[in-house]
Amino acid sequence: MKDQNHLNKRKNRLKGNNYKIAVIGGGPAGIMAAISAAKALSSKKSSKNSSSKKYSNKGPNSQEVVLIERNDILGKKLLLTGGGRCNITNNSDLKTHLNSFGEKSSFLKPSLYNFDNKSLLEFFNDKGLDFKIENQGKVYPIDDKASSVLKVLENYLQEYNVKLFKGALVKDIKGKDSGFDIFIKRAPESCTEKSKKIKGMDLIKASKVIIATGGLSYSSAGSTGDGLKFAKNYGHSLTPTIPGLVPLKVKEEWIKDLSGLKLENIGISFRKPSKKRISHVGTILLTHFGLSGPGILDLSREISTLNYQFHKSVHSSANDDSNQNKLQKDIFPLELFLDLIPEKSNEELRDKFNLEFSKSGKTLIKNYLKNFIPNNFITPFLIHSDINPKKELNQISRKEKNRLIINLKDLKIHISGLMPFKSAMVTCGGINHKNINSKTMESKLVEGMYFAGEIIEFCGLSGGYNLQMAFSTGYTAGNGASNSLT
Ligand SMILES: Cc1cc2nc3c(=O)[nH]c(=O)nc-3n(C[C@H](O)[C@H](O)[C@H](O)COP(=O)(O)OP(=O)(O)OC[C@H]3O[C@@H](n4cnc5c(N)ncnc54)[C@H](O)[C@@H]3O)c2cc1C
Repeated sequence: MKDQNHLNKRKNRLKGNNYKIAVIGGGPAGIMAAISAAKALSSKKSSKNSSSKKYSNKGPNSQEVVLIERNDILGKKLLLTGGGRCNITNNSDLKTHLNSFGEKSSFLKPSLYNFDNKSLLEFFNDKGLDFKIENQGKVYPIDDKASSVLKVLENYLQEYNVKLFKGALVKDIKGKDSGFDIFIKRAPESCTEKSKKIKGMDLIKASKVIIATGGLSYSSAGSTGDGLKFAKNYGHSLTPTIPGLVPLKVKEEWIKDLSGLKLENIGISFRKPSKKRISHVGTILLTHFGLSGPGILDLSREISTLNYQFHKSVHSSANDDSNQNKLQKDIFPLELFLDLIPEKSNEELRDKFNLEFSKSGKTLIKNYLKNFIPNNFITPFLIHSDINPKKELNQISRKEKNRLIINLKDLKIHISGLMPFKSAMVTCGGINHKNINSKTMESKLVEGMYFAGEIIEFCGLSGGYNLQMAFSTGYTAGNGASNSLT
C-alpha cells in the first residue's frame, strides 16, 4: 500500500512535468524559442477554439512550454552584452548580417529573413521599449540598459504562460521522436532559496526539445558546452570550437608595458597563408597580455576562422581550453601589422616628413610625433624603432626616417595566441549546420530535437550580429517545434 502510494505520487509528479516543448538554456536564443513556441501554440489553440465557437484567450491555458535554465536568473550573458548596454542588433541589411557570419552563412538566411532586425525591434517596441542607432549601425535600447531588454522578454514569457525552471542544470537528455526525458540536477552554486523549491524534480518529459545552451565562451555566465555534449551523444558532428571575438596575446613586452593605452583609428591587418591581406580600421586597447578593443575583437574572428580552417578535418574534441592550446600552435606566432596613420599613404608621409623635418629642424622627434600618435606611446615606439627620442628632426638620418615610416605604417606585432574561451565573446564552431534543417532548426538526425543560437557553429562580427542570430534562430526553432505538433 505504502509502495503504491509512493508510485502514484511519483506518477503524478512526472505527469505534472510533462510538456509539449522543453527549451534548454535561458539565454536570448532559448528565451525567444520559448516565447515563439508558446505564442504559436496559443494561436493554434485560439483558432481551434474560435472554430468550435469557444472563447479564446491570449496565452495557452495550461503551461505547455517549459524553459530550463541552470542559473537562478535568465539571460545572465545578455545582461553583460555591449558593456551592459546591449548592442541588440545592427541596422544593416540582410546581406550585411549574413556576411558578418562569413562562409556558409546562407544557412542562416531563412531565420534572418523571417525574423529580421526590424521584426526584432518591433517585438520589443510592442512592449514599449525603444531603440537608438549608434556608429556602424549598432542598435541599443534607448535607456542603454540590457536589463530593459531582459525585462521585456520576461514579460512575454509570463504573457504566454511559459513555465520557468531556474537553477536547474540539465544533466542529460534521453529518448527520441516519441518524446524526450530531460534529467535535471539542481545547481547549488547558482541557487537562491527560491529556486531550491524545485528540489526533488529530476525529470521533465517533453514531446519536443529545443537545445539553446550557448557555446563555450564566457562560461561564468553558464555556457559550458553541455548542449554540445548532448548533441554529440545523439550523433551530431561538431566543428572545431575556437574562441571568437577574443583579445590577442602578443610577444612584445613593450606593448604589454603600455597596458591601458587606447589607439584610435588604427589600420590592423594580417596575411593569410594564401598571402591575402585581411585588414580593417578600428580602435585598439593595449593590455597586460597584448591587444584588445573593438578593432582587435573583429579581426580575431578572422584569425579564429583561419585557425579553424587549419583544423577543419578534426571532428572536434577541441571543446576546452587545453585542446585550444594545442590547436593554437599551428598558426601562431602570427604577424599582425598596425598602421598608425591609415589616412596617409607611405609616399604622402615621406613627402610630409621631408618638408617638415627641414622646416622645423630643431624640434625633438618625440615632440613632433605628438601630431600623429598618443603621447604615452611615442617614447616606447621610438625606442622600439631604434631612434633616440631626444634627437632633433634635423639629426634624423635617412635610414632612421625610413624605419620610422615603416613602423608608423606597418608596425609588426607577433601574436602568440588567442585569449581563452573565458574571455571570448562568442564561440566559433559548434554543431555542424549540415546536421540541421535551416527552415525549422530541427536536427536532421533526431526528429523532435531543435537547436538555436550560439550552440550552432556560426560566429559573427561584433556590432549586434550575434544577438540577432540568437534571437532569429530561436524564433525559427520555437515555431518549427510548435508547427510540428499536431
Ligand atoms: C561580454 C560579452 C558581451 C557581448 N556583447 C554582445 C553585444 O553587445 N551584441 C551582440 O550581438 N552579441 C554580444 N555578445 C554575444 C552574445 O552574448 C551571444 O551571442 C548570445 O548571448 C548567445 O545567445 P545564446 O542564447 O545562444 O547563448 P547564451 O547567452 O550563452 O545562453 C545559453 C544559456 O544556456 C544555459 N545553459 C547552459 N547549459 C545548461 C544546462 N546544462 N542546463 C540548463 N541551462 C544551461 C546558460 O546558463 C545560458 O543562460 C557578447 C558576449 C559577451 C560574453
